[in-house]
Amino acid sequence: MHHVPKDTGWIEVVVGSMFSGKTEELIRRLRRAQYAKQKVQVFKPALDDRYVAGSIASHDQRTLEARLIDGPSDIYLYLELGTEVIGIDEAQFLGKGLCEVVQDLANRGLRVVVAALDQDYRGVPFPEIPELMATSEYVTKNLAICVQCGNPANRSQRLHGGDSKVQVGAAESYEPRCRACFRPEVIGQQQFDMGDD
Ligand SMILES: [Zn+2]
Repeated sequence: MHHVPKDTGWIEVVVGSMFSGKTEELIRRLRRAQYAKQKVQVFKPALDDRYVAGSIASHDQRTLEARLIDGPSDIYLYLELGTEVIGIDEAQFLGKGLCEVVQDLANRGLRVVVAALDQDYRGVPFPEIPELMATSEYVTKNLAICVQCGNPANRSQRLHGGDSKVQVGAAESYEPRCRACFRPEVIGQQQFDMGDD
């Protein structure tokens, strides 16, 4: 994929819309590290209870064990001696302090691989994610396929307003759409409840 830096940590960010294969890519990279006998720890926000608690799962059901955390600084509570690679899934829901913690881990010599939605269902960037992309060494932007027209899709179309505060990864609630087919106004201008904006 790229030259592996020596004697330093670094940050890889995998972003995109829903159904763009972010988690699959995260799992792929972390598994390769495990095959190379590196010690890997995986974290994800506790509110993401899709499929299996305590693991990260791609839409195609591949899984990797993950520690549930309530915020970025919880990583320090569980960080084990000898860990070389940190994986974080659904990082957009970890909230304030994500960049600071990820930078610190990389500065300590760890490789940090972060998967995150870059935009919410209104097409607005999630807090922390743009800064994370700017300050990382490697950014991979995944595109999904627009279900309306087949174009590359970088937006997550919300299909129901719902009254649930958080709708994470619910396949029936979202579909990937391209710029031309995206309709943020369909569900009105209600505020997205996650994040700090
Ligand atoms: Zn389209």
